[in-house]
Amino acid sequence: MKIGFIGLGIMGLPMAKNLMKAGFSLVVHNRSRRPVEELASLGAQAANFGREVVQRSDVVITMLPDSPDVREVILGKGGVLEGVRSGMTVIDMSTISPRVTKEIAEALAAKGADMLDAPVSGGQKGAMEGTLSIMVGGKKEVFERCMPIFKAMGRVVVHVGDHGAGETVKLCNQVICALNIVSMCEGITLCRKTGVDVGKMIEVVSGGLGASNIISNLAPKILRGDMEPGFKLRLQQKDIRLALQLAEELKLPLPASGLAHQIFRIAEAKGLGDKGTQALIKAYELLS
Ligand code: NAP
Repeated sequence: MKIGFIGLGIMGLPMAKNLMKAGFSLVVHNRSRRPVEELASLGAQAANFGREVVQRSDVVITMLPDSPDVREVILGKGGVLEGVRSGMTVIDMSTISPRVTKEIAEALAAKGADMLDAPVSGGQKGAMEGTLSIMVGGKKEVFERCMPIFKAMGRVVVHVGDHGAGETVKLCNQVICALNIVSMCEGITLCRKTGVDVGKMIEVVSGGLGASNIISNLAPKILRGDMEPGFKLRLQQKDIRLALQLAEELKLPLPASGLAHQIFRIAEAKGLGDKGTQALIKAYELLS
């Protein structure tokens, strides 16, 4: 089976490499060309736009930043829709609006193609190690057919419902993660201000009820002053925005998410959008 892969950033590049390791042939495309050249040197075929990718593959995966990017790559000029054939499957693994996913699924269905929304959790580390959690929306039989593809990139792979359900579950995940980042930064800021050793606080908290993957992955980076992105702060901000939009459609209050959105906004306004989510600590440094 030949897989087309579009969007080779922090997540897409290692995910594509794991597909190649599992024996799939790849046709790849990315806006900047460096990751395309890297994969071509490992045996992948390079392509220049979405239509070219889909014409040369059986299944197409997209891993792009936001809803407008996925819409452009699939529905835009020279996009996937122009070259898609009946019976093909498009799997979008980006975190985007559930509403936009449903629109794209309808456009593909009109050409006889299937769509799965299959966003992931587990970060850059999970992408590199092939241990992502993958939450999938779409037809159950299409999901089952694509299982070997998912298993090459992830460990926990769950069909969660119809089109848009994967993105909905991912937004719930992102609310939990965002608030966890905020609470970690508040704990660290409080500890710093008292003069007690932050490293010791993290060590003991990590063995108790306050432990979390967020703390074990991000607190050591904060302690080292390492703000490089595993997950860009502006993408976390996008995810809270999407969760708040979904809550708005449901007339549902998510007060703590609203507050987190504003705190992340402070960090973004300070030019930290392309840093990792742990750079939220800088917003707290400004406030304290
Ligand atoms: P990223 O590093 O910014 O990668 C996005 C990639 O898409 C970049 O390589 C970019 O190319 C490419 N791209 C953008 N527009 C394009 C277009 N029109 N045509 C072709 N390529 C295009 O982001 P990421 O961290 O990999 O995240 C990707 C998605 O996964 C996002 O929806 C994010 O929310 C989600 N996610 C991320 C993580 C994480 O920990 N990083 C975890 C779970 C989910 P350029 O090189 O030109 O910028």
